[in-house]
Amino acid sequence: MNIHEYQAKELLKSYGVPVPPGEVVYSVRGAARVAEELGGNRWVVKAQIHAGGRGKAGGVKMANTPAKVSEAADLMIGTTLVTAQTGPEGQLVQRVLVERASRIDREFYLSLIIDRVSQKVVIIASAEGGVDIEEVAAASPEKVHKEYVDPGVGLLDFQCRKIATTIGLANRAAPFTRLLKRIYRLFRDKDCQLLEINPFIVTEDGDLMAIDCKMSFDDNSLFRQGGIAELRDFDEEDPKEVEATGHGLNYIALDGSVGCIVNGAGLAMATMDAIVHHNGRPANFLDVGGGASPEKIANAFRIVLKDPNVKVILVNIFAGINRCDWIATGVVQATRDQEINVPVIVRLAGTNVEAGRKILDESGLALIQAEDLDDAAAKAVASLEGANA
Ligand code: GDP
Ligand code: MN
Repeated sequence: MNIHEYQAKELLKSYGVPVPPGEVVYSVRGAARVAEELGGNRWVVKAQIHAGGRGKAGGVKMANTPAKVSEAADLMIGTTLVTAQTGPEGQLVQRVLVERASRIDREFYLSLIIDRVSQKVVIIASAEGGVDIEEVAAASPEKVHKEYVDPGVGLLDFQCRKIATTIGLANRAAPFTRLLKRIYRLFRDKDCQLLEINPFIVTEDGDLMAIDCKMSFDDNSLFRQGGIAELRDFDEEDPKEVEATGHGLNYIALDGSVGCIVNGAGLAMATMDAIVHHNGRPANFLDVGGGASPEKIANAFRIVLKDPNVKVILVNIFAGINRCDWIATGVVQATRDQEINVPVIVRLAGTNVEAGRKILDESGLALIQAEDLDDAAAKAVASLEGANA
């Protein structure tokens, strides 16, 4: 789960990490009011969407009067911002963060992620922070430093000093160490998956501060992270994925045309592989889970069909705990009650497979049965080619 920059900054602040004074607003008038309340003579207006790359796309603007703060907010609120990270469809801006502008001397990159290979938290730091970090990482990887933290031992002072030295902050090693330890504690306490501060700055007065922050959390830990789960912004997520979660379905939208309804995450992955092997592209990952009731199957059809790119549906069920006759009943109910204008390929295997196939055969519906996974994928892709011909 991701959160907005202003929410991430609130968390940083609560852990004693300095961030610029500011407030999130939902209206143009609110933006001017906040600028006046904050005081000063320079502000920055920042579009709040769950994607970076805003600076280069017009989503971060400086203003030197409250009227210009309003103007900047007006340009952002209600418009769709397309950045290198949003995809071509962009993301609607519904709120902006108004902050007192910081006077930046130097910009650094600092992030914490979980490294699955070493099973440690890795701290990534670079003296070349700011909006071009991706290019720096690609062209000069030696300018990006990594420090691995054993979660059982925790972050040690010498590691913080080492990072400070490698990014040219040796003269600020003590305050840097204090802040990095607070950031690390936040990362652990809140079950973060990623915590990225870019830029982390030294101000012209020599202070350290976080100017931008991106945080994402382990979904499997949200049950014990009450305060965090509340920060979820459904407007930033694919509505199909949100609806699927509500029905106990694990759905992830992709960009192909073969809609997939599968039980089990492993089988769902194998199904997507088989589709690609036959030169098709999956429209989604969808795991209906173990005991898939007819209602669940019907919901799965509804969600998959909301994607206008879906040109064929492949149902692939291996019934171990489940029973093929239940699944077949679900498929028949779903396809009878909903208008389905695309071919439906069904592959059933496992418990009660004969009974399941019989139900499909006798339904009178135009369902195409497949012998096995390979046959199902081949038939799905072939039906696409038929549609295009
Ligand atoms: P991103 O492009 O989505 O990563 O947005 P950021 O919040 O990182 O802002 C992009 C860039 O705008 C930063 O790297 C800074 O160079 C600049 N910027 C952001 N806030 C301030 C500020 O308060 N003062 C100054 N001088 N520059 C800022
Ligand atoms: Mn940034």
